[in-house]
Amino acid sequence: MSPPISERPYIFYELTNSLCSSCLKKVEAKIIFQDERVYMLKTCLEHGLEKVLISIDIEYYKRARNFLKPPQTPLRFNTATVHGCPYDCGLCPDHEQHSCLTLVEIAERCNLTCPVCYADSSPTKGGFRSLPEIEFLLDELVKNEGEPDVVQLSGGEPTIHPQFFEIMDAARKRPIRHLMVNTNGIRIAKDRHFAEKLAAYKDGFEVYLQFDSLKKQALEVLRGEDLRQVRRQALDHLNEFDISTTLVVTLQKGLNDQEIGEIIDFALKEPCVRGVTFQPVQSAGRLETFNPAKDRLTLSEVRAQILKQSPIFSDADILPVPCHPDCIAMAYALKLEDKVVPLSGLISPAELLKGRNTIQYEQDPLMKEKLFQLFSLNQAEKNTSHAVGDLLCCLPKLEFPTKLSYRNIFRVIIIEFLDRYNFDVRSVKRSCVHIMHPDGRVIPFDTYNMFYRENLEVGQIARNGIQKAEVKLDRIN
Ligand code: SF4
Ligand code: SF4
Repeated sequence: MSPPISERPYIFYELTNSLCSSCLKKVEAKIIFQDERVYMLKTCLEHGLEKVLISIDIEYYKRARNFLKPPQTPLRFNTATVHGCPYDCGLCPDHEQHSCLTLVEIAERCNLTCPVCYADSSPTKGGFRSLPEIEFLLDELVKNEGEPDVVQLSGGEPTIHPQFFEIMDAARKRPIRHLMVNTNGIRIAKDRHFAEKLAAYKDGFEVYLQFDSLKKQALEVLRGEDLRQVRRQALDHLNEFDISTTLVVTLQKGLNDQEIGEIIDFALKEPCVRGVTFQPVQSAGRLETFNPAKDRLTLSEVRAQILKQSPIFSDADILPVPCHPDCIAMAYALKLEDKVVPLSGLISPAELLKGRNTIQYEQDPLMKEKLFQLFSLNQAEKNTSHAVGDLLCCLPKLEFPTKLSYRNIFRVIIIEFLDRYNFDVRSVKRSCVHIMHPDGRVIPFDTYNMFYRENLEVGQIARNGIQKAEVKLDRIN
């Protein structure tokens, strides 16, 4: 009698391409469902098998597939597709989404030395990009985008650039719809006059304020210092001058992921704060014991923690963002006079009781269209309040104010960047958060720190058997 046919302990759902986390060469990756979780299984001929946790929520993983929209391309591409993704950034013609949000690094220097800093910035390392170099980058971006949606001045610490306000003026002269400054808040906290000057730009402008924790210990682990006083003082100045602010929370598993609800509550009480962005990072300090099959903090886990820790949002509120649904999720609430109402709170209870435990907005074509307009990373200020109003018009609604302003909007975003473990070629092609390379290329943020920052490009491209000179020759523009 032949032995019984054995069964694997998982469902093989689909196939994609990833990278070997050791050598960064491209490898095939199976997506499997096992024990209520989604994993990636990949094999490198040199470094063997890897299992990586992708999601703790199979249904949400599948649902993200309903939130896809036709890709929007930039006005031009910057490189040719020659070696295959991700070795042709970019943007190469194979990329499937234009830049919703683009970072322009204006300083390498920083007034902090954060242990988690991907740019390795510090008060003693690096300098400042010159104004002509920055203008070149802004112009290159405008050639790609026409009217870039969101541009984020970043660093290092951008506010310590000696020509900071000249750079702000240079950005303002270009047709940029929404300008942001990505800052640790130290200058804003300690220099009231600086905050006052910043307020002159506040129309179409937002401070993207590093804000990881309300607790001393987590701040010391992530930032190397107890910054609680600095953050309080920065918010006092931002409130005083009424400058729109998003709090940015770097989340590390086991360190500050139990503070999510508390941070949302805190943010809702600050008049200048328009929302919170959560960015899970994988612990850099524990790499020796890091097990990617267990220890990764995924978007789905952050989403689950928001649902558990915050009474504001329900499962129907936190939705995949259609331009990059694998990596970005978003939720909206309205800050009204005496209450905070999530989007689903405006839907009649009868609708909620129609036998589904999830509101399938995407099944109604009109609602889907309006929702897709609203749930885009490039939504900012004026068009956000319009888009919320637009969407509310087609919801079976309760009462809501007919005139909404950006002050009424509270937005929670989760962004999970791809790293060497969860890298997925299918997903990176949809990346819409990009960063300007000093030579004018526009590179997905996910691939920049792996392949294209400073000396990495020479090293990694050589490792993958591709000559940098060849890449340069192939550039289209
Ligand atoms: S990530 Fe995008 S730009 Fe980079 S190689 Fe892939 S398709 Fe091209
Ligand atoms: S504040 Fe930002 S740029 Fe400065 S060291 Fe920390 S992470 Fe790096």
